[in-house]
Amino acid sequence: MEVINEIKFTMPSLSVNESAARAVVSSFLIQADPTVEELSDIRTAVSEAVTNAVVHAYRNAKGNIELVVKLLAGREVYIRIKDKGCGIEDVEQAMQPLFTTAPEEERSGLGFSVMSSFMDKLSVKSSSGKGTTVTMRKRLAKHEN
Ligand code: ATP
Ligand code: MG
Repeated sequence: MEVINEIKFTMPSLSVNESAARAVVSSFLIQADPTVEELSDIRTAVSEAVTNAVVHAYRNAKGNIELVVKLLAGREVYIRIKDKGCGIEDVEQAMQPLFTTAPEEERSGLGFSVMSSFMDKLSVKSSSGKGTTVTMRKRLAKHEN
């Protein structure tokens, strides 16, 4: 993949960082002049992944979440969200719509479904006890000018 520009930052697993992550991704992607809808889709997907790291990966403990955003050749956006939390035992099951391990917290089990419908590609790699890495890609529409 030909990387045109990229940023990487690390934040502690605090819920206020869900909006911080959205804001950083938006500011970075302005250079590609995405449509309002494209930006909104990406912001929502990032938010779901960061929220998962905050609420599931580290539960009530604190840990770091790493966010990488790349702008690739061909107007493709690459996003990676990585935690070193509890990991997911069965990724396939976790990605099923409505599957949640936290129904008592009024979670609906739709985070991964939202990520996959708002982005073109979604990959989840996880290892129990070691952490989870979520990678997403979305190609932005061509520009007229
Ligand atoms: P919602 O996102 O609708 O509030 P949810 O977070 O439970 O509910 P998903 O985001 O689809 O639903 O995640 C499904 C399940 O996968 C979670 O309930 C949790 O068990 C597990 N999971 C997701 N992300 C992580 C992560 N980063 N670390 C550990 N477990 C995770
Ligand atoms: Mg979720």
